[in-house]
Amino acid sequence: MKKVARRSAAAVILAAVLTIGLGYFVFMYVTEGKSWATYYANSHLSGAVQSSTVDVYDRNGLPLLTAADGKRAYSDDPGIRMSTLHTIGDLDGYIFSPALKVFSEELTGYNPFSGVSSRADSLTLSLDAGLCKIALSALKGAAGTVGVYNYKTGEILCMVSSPTYDPYSPPDLSESEVGYEGVYVNRFLSSAYVPGSVFKLVTAACAIDTIDDIFTQKFVCRGSLTLSGQKIVCNNVHGEIGFKTALAKSCNAAFAEIAVQLGSDILGDFVEDTGVCGGIGFQGLKTSSGNFDLNGANTGDLAWAGIGQYTNLVNPCTLMTFMGAIANGGEQRLPSLIAGMEGKKGEQLISPVTAGLLKEMMANNVTQSYGSSNFPGLKICAKSGTAEVGSGANPHAWFAGFLDDPNNPYAFVVISEHSGSGSEVAGSIANTVLQALVKS
Ligand SMILES: [Zn+2]
Repeated sequence: MKKVARRSAAAVILAAVLTIGLGYFVFMYVTEGKSWATYYANSHLSGAVQSSTVDVYDRNGLPLLTAADGKRAYSDDPGIRMSTLHTIGDLDGYIFSPALKVFSEELTGYNPFSGVSSRADSLTLSLDAGLCKIALSALKGAAGTVGVYNYKTGEILCMVSSPTYDPYSPPDLSESEVGYEGVYVNRFLSSAYVPGSVFKLVTAACAIDTIDDIFTQKFVCRGSLTLSGQKIVCNNVHGEIGFKTALAKSCNAAFAEIAVQLGSDILGDFVEDTGVCGGIGFQGLKTSSGNFDLNGANTGDLAWAGIGQYTNLVNPCTLMTFMGAIANGGEQRLPSLIAGMEGKKGEQLISPVTAGLLKEMMANNVTQSYGSSNFPGLKICAKSGTAEVGSGANPHAWFAGFLDDPNNPYAFVVISEHSGSGSEVAGSIANTVLQALVKS
């Protein structure tokens, strides 16, 4: 009798496990079915350009990927093919296609009973392909990235990654990669760079929030200082210098002192809250994460971190949305790659008051340091960066900011690798792209 009781108990347990398992599967099927069905391996939906049936156009209706004689055809213009390669993807599947990914995520429907269905048979991207071509040409062969988006709607107008190539004649990289280092990577979405002085905007925002008398403090720059045995060198000998001018002149001595005043905990928490060294997600895409880590850092490390060096890393797309947030009174607008589809409202990254003060300082950077005449007609607010990337290597040139102009609400990021001065090299690329954009 005992044996029978034991067996029936075992049967009940088994039945219970099966029921729970089935229930779990049904639950997962209903809640996760779409992501299973549109998983990247389902290449006819979201994967390789080769097997895709989706026609892709730019925001002006220019064909970027269409069907021709049963094959996939790119634009007739080689400059457009090259500058949109990291958005569309290549024929061999080496380069991930953000375009096909957002199509599967946003324009493919899913029904638990009938499976996947397309809500559209073509995709019109938010990109202006002509602008991408101009941006690629402005990089003049340097590796790097140029991104521009509308910080009100989130639409990405320009996303260029260099080096690139013509998908109709891919390079043979089996022997050497010279000139093609990291060519399969979309540097805008999937890289993390040392930010250098563009990071001073984050340190400045934290100082505005934390240090009551920051705008009346005076710092003394003697060209260098030593903290915890580390020599921190400035780009000049600035003498007595205030906060606003310290940002405009990108004074390392002043920002080292500001970072030390803030301390690791406050600066670390602030960076975490703004998410500027994290990654962002939109329309099924995820940007690479950056880095900000002051664990075990001494005073010298903390100073370098506040200046944007040390182990700091940022993703260009994430930084661009931070620029948009400064322009938007502190509120982040997530990007969108689809024409007419707004990006999601993000978080309030910094307070409206801090955003307003930072905006004024970024406008002052241009008038006081970079030269308004280098950006004719543009209401530009910006910060340059010249990021040191190892001894002997020419630094990366950065320029990031936005137009404070309701008719042209664009935020941007430019990185030209190993190109030297941020404001001269990357600033000039930004001007070329923004001039073309506001005139279009
Ligand atoms: Zn200085």
